[in-house]
Amino acid sequence: MPELDAILSQKILSVKNQQRFRTLSAVKRCEGAYVEKDGRRLLAFSSNDYLGLANHPRVISAAMEAAKHYGAGSSASRLVSGNYPLYAELETSLATYKHTETALVLGSGYLANIGAIPAITGQGDLILADKLVHACILEGIKLSGAKALRFAHNDMEHAATLLTANRHLYQNCLVITETIFSMDGDKAPLAELRALCDRHDTWLMTDDAHGIGLPQTVKADIQMGTLSKALGSYGGYIAGSQILIDHIINSARSFMFSSGLPPAAVGAALEALRIIQDEPERAEKALAHARRFTQELGLPLAESPIVPIIIGAEDKALDAAQKLEEAGFLVTAIRPPTVPENTSRLRFVFTASHEKGDVTHLIKIIKNENIIS
Ligand SMILES: *Cc1c(COP(=O)(O)O)cnc(C)c1O
Repeated sequence: MPELDAILSQKILSVKNQQRFRTLSAVKRCEGAYVEKDGRRLLAFSSNDYLGLANHPRVISAAMEAAKHYGAGSSASRLVSGNYPLYAELETSLATYKHTETALVLGSGYLANIGAIPAITGQGDLILADKLVHACILEGIKLSGAKALRFAHNDMEHAATLLTANRHLYQNCLVITETIFSMDGDKAPLAELRALCDRHDTWLMTDDAHGIGLPQTVKADIQMGTLSKALGSYGGYIAGSQILIDHIINSARSFMFSSGLPPAAVGAALEALRIIQDEPERAEKALAHARRFTQELGLPLAESPIVPIIIGAEDKALDAAQKLEEAGFLVTAIRPPTVPENTSRLRFVFTASHEKGDVTHLIKIIKNENIIS
């Protein structure tokens, strides 16, 4: 048998040949939207901390208090003895925020999706998902054993056609989409999707990982979200009916067989949720930056703080990110398999930590460097 390292070197070589090899660099968060990378200070447009809450003094101090009170770790799964009292407080707040009967916190957004989807659907069921949904949704679908079909991105006609042709062949049916798409920043047509699901006797699940504290009016049956992005902490959740949550507690394997979160993460998320509700202007500020950026560069008007500039080839996207880094900005080049082939891109994220002048400076550099061809 060949040696493990020899086999893996071959695999790495093929990734490198496609310009898709990834490495880790240490990035230290500094004040505001600044970071330090390789000894250089850069203005970051790459963080999912949309509302600037991960380093908010109130959030940090809530994390510290939680650790002092409940310890550094949870010491067990929640069904055993890891369910310290802060969990109930956070879940009540999440349910209020989401206008659902209740909510359940899981280890991460990833664990929420790979746990909840197979808990709800199985063999003999049908799942329809948008073409651009996140990798962990696809993973959850695979684990469920349900028949999976994908509809073209935000294409309601295509989704309707697939449902008309296939719905009757399966027992239960679930449609899954994202509220705001992680790599494109656009919104799903939730009202249309809800109506479509109702017509075809189908459940709707939304992934709100990139929701930023702006209200949603459409009710999905299963609302998934994360504590790790706009809430500045770590963890994931599902919000919905009491029966849905009771069922997930009893059948989502990623919930049952994984330890509870560190108390600091739950304490931080709870405080962040308070700040989001007290200060809606944070979400508005992030969105206003993104809108101005797209307007001044002649891009389609931003619908969220996420703005992609599609470059195409992997190496060109990496070059563009490198140019911006030399000019003092940290912007991530996103490549396949995170995004579809030939759509490598720069993904700009605007946050409440950015100031108007930061965005002005970024726009100027993008124009000077001819990043948009
Ligand atoms: C980030 C992300 C997740 C995973 O959330 P984590 O809490 O980071 O594990 C799930 N879905 C989408 C759309 C995401 O962008």
